Amino acid sequence: MEKTLPFTAEQISEWTNQYPTPFYVYDEAGIRKTVSDVYKAFAWNKGFRECFAVKATPTPAILRLLADMDCGADCSSIPEIVLAAGSGISGQRIMFTSNETSAAEYRTARENGAIINLDDITQIENLENACGIPETVCCRYNPGQFSYATNAIMGHMYDTKFGMKKEQLFEALRTLKEKGAEHMGIHAMLASCSLEQGYYPALARELFGLVLEIREALGITLSFVDMAGGIGIPYRPEENPIDIITAGEGVRQAYEEMLRPKGIELPLYTEMGRFITGPHGYLLTTVVGKKHIWKEYVGVDASPADLMRPAMYGAYHHITVAGKENLPAEQTVDVVGALCENNDKFAIDRPLPQTEIGDVLVLHDAGAHGHAMGYNYNGRLRCAEYLLQEDGNLKLIRRAQTMSDYFATLDVDPEFHFE
Ligand SMILES: *Cc1c(COP(=O)(O)O)cnc(C)c1O
Repeated sequence: MEKTLPFTAEQISEWTNQYPTPFYVYDEAGIRKTVSDVYKAFAWNKGFRECFAVKATPTPAILRLLADMDCGADCSSIPEIVLAAGSGISGQRIMFTSNETSAAEYRTARENGAIINLDDITQIENLENACGIPETVCCRYNPGQFSYATNAIMGHMYDTKFGMKKEQLFEALRTLKEKGAEHMGIHAMLASCSLEQGYYPALARELFGLVLEIREALGITLSFVDMAGGIGIPYRPEENPIDIITAGEGVRQAYEEMLRPKGIELPLYTEMGRFITGPHGYLLTTVVGKKHIWKEYVGVDASPADLMRPAMYGAYHHITVAGKENLPAEQTVDVVGALCENNDKFAIDRPLPQTEIGDVLVLHDAGAHGHAMGYNYNGRLRCAEYLLQEDGNLKLIRRAQTMSDYFATLDVDPEFHFE
């Protein structure tokens, strides 16, 4: 898919003249369009809800606009629950999907009325001891083998730490029912960043098959099915986006064939993060150096502390040189930041138009798992986030970190002073 920007080079220079780079810009109109497509795709399913994976973009202004579009939230820690609740997403609109969960986390989830999604059968006892078994509860499934999982970041399901085996899942549901649970659901996330059009439909068939087996074997009719996230986005220009309408139609067919004839009606949930905000976030960074040694380097003022995915997974993020969109890519460069780490490369051997110091580079598809993964290595302070509102105005939604923020936890050390 061709990589374009929802703003102009003039807007970029207007912004970078006012605000220091690097910073993130999220496109509200783009996010709203994607959410509305998701709800269209599943409009046939009564009670459908997208529970946005908060870890992807844990920024209240983004969560509020998702809440405004009827989204829930998928959380896995106390601060994520607090973020969701503080952004207008509460009660059963919060899915709490955690691992190696503490009693305090279960209690907070329960106090907030979240749906707790148990990762393992051994967690039933922990949950019960922490806060009792709620009326509504979910169990996470790991089938071991699933055809669409093998080519994704998550890899083979035998190797993934999440969820329960089938026998355990059945045992867990039986136990939960005995202990008073009345509304139960199942959850599975069997891919990460999947661009397979058939992933959701195949997952739906897997889960709907379980729904039928569970009713048959345990006499339990499940109350919901959560297909989680894992839907990818085309980071590379040669990749194609998932057509969510078609994917939703594939899920509908599975539902009509498998559940409806048995008289089962249940709401579906999704927990997409990347698909919702990923394509609509951009990291703007300024060229601060050019270096020619054994290779050509373009140095920028952002680093993996702002966007870790390239350094961590070798992930591709498309780069546009602002104002040079139509110039030929005449140079092949590594785009690097200031970290004292050689994996600090946003791009390796990337063809780009000739760049000069002061040019602004826009890194595409940084809206999910981007700013969120930021860290402070090398004393790098985390950058600001802005929302490009539908009215065309840019609004600061998270300021950049200051040194005081960075040193805040050193308040225990009275001998440390800084100015
Ligand atoms: C990370 C995660 C998601 C979202 O994943 P994306 O790749 O952003 O769609 C959804 N559900 C759970 C349980 C997750 O851990």
